[in-house]
Amino acid sequence: MTSTPVVLLLKPSGIRQVDPRQPQLAVTDWGATSGDGVFESISIIDGRMPPLGARFDRLEASARALDLPVIDRARWTEALAMSIEAHDPVQRLAVTLAMTRGIEGGDGTPTAWLLARPARDFTGIRRSGVSVVTLDRGYASDAADGAPWLLLGAKHLSYATNAAALREASRRGADDVIFTSTDGLALEGPTSSLLVRRGDVVESPGVESGILAGTTQATAFRFFESRGLRTRFAPIRARDLADCDALWLVSSVRQAVAVHTLDAQPMPVDGDLTAELNDWLAGAARSE
Ligand code: PLP
Repeated sequence: MTSTPVVLLLKPSGIRQVDPRQPQLAVTDWGATSGDGVFESISIIDGRMPPLGARFDRLEASARALDLPVIDRARWTEALAMSIEAHDPVQRLAVTLAMTRGIEGGDGTPTAWLLARPARDFTGIRRSGVSVVTLDRGYASDAADGAPWLLLGAKHLSYATNAAALREASRRGADDVIFTSTDGLALEGPTSSLLVRRGDVVESPGVESGILAGTTQATAFRFFESRGLRTRFAPIRARDLADCDALWLVSSVRQAVAVHTLDAQPMPVDGDLTAELNDWLAGAARSE
C-alpha cells in the first residue's frame, strides 16, 4: 500500500509499473511536443472501481476526433484495478489515463500511461463554493460544426488555454471561469461542466455548443431528478446567468462547487442541496 503516485505504462507487451520519480516520457513524444493526445480523469473513492462505461465512451470519442486508435477497454480496466490495488483504500485517488500519438518519427504506436495519486482535498471548496468570472472563449457556439479540427468537445492534452484562462481568473481575483461563446452563450469551465437552476429546472449547455460531455453533469442530472426537479440540456445565455437561482461547476475529482460570486456579483447558494449533491456524486463513484 502506498500514498505515492503509481505510474503504469501500457505497452504492446503488457502493463508495467514504473518508478514515478524516474522520467518515462521521451522528449520527442507527440504528447510532449504538441499536446497531441487524449486523456481522462477518474475519481476513485474508498478503493472501489467506479462505473467506467461513460468514461470509456468519451475517451474513445476523443481518440476518434484525433484519429488515434480505438482504446482497449479491458487493458485500461486492468491497469486501473492494479493502481487501486497498490493504494490504501481509504484514500481518494485522482487517476489520469493518457494516450498520445507516440514518438515523432516512430512506428505510430501510441504512448499510453496511467497515473494514480492521492487526490487533493476539495472538502473546503465544496462547502465554500467559488468566485467565477465569465471569459470569452473566442468561438461561436456552432464553431465545432464547420471546424472539427478545433477538437472542441474532445478531451485532448492541450490544456494550455484552459490553464491560461484560470490564471486570468486569478489575476481578476476569482477562483474559476465560465467560458462564453462569441454569440453570447455560457459554455463550461476550463475543467468542469456548468449547471444552472431556474426554479424547479436544472439545465446544462448541450454538447452541440462545442463543450465536453460531462460525466459528472450526467450523474448530477440523476440526483436532481431524484429530488423532483426537471433537467434538460438548453442553450444558456451568459447574460441570464446572474438571474439564475443557483450555479454549479461540476467535475469528477472536485465534484460540485457552487458559484457564490459571478463577475463580482453575489449569487444565491443552497449549501444543503450542494452537500447532498456531493454525497450523491461520491456514492455514484463507489457504485460499481
Ligand atoms: N469540461 C471540461 C473542459 C473539463 O476539462 C472537464 C473535466 O475535466 C469537464 C467539463 C467535466 O467532466 P467530468 O465531469 O467528466 O469530469
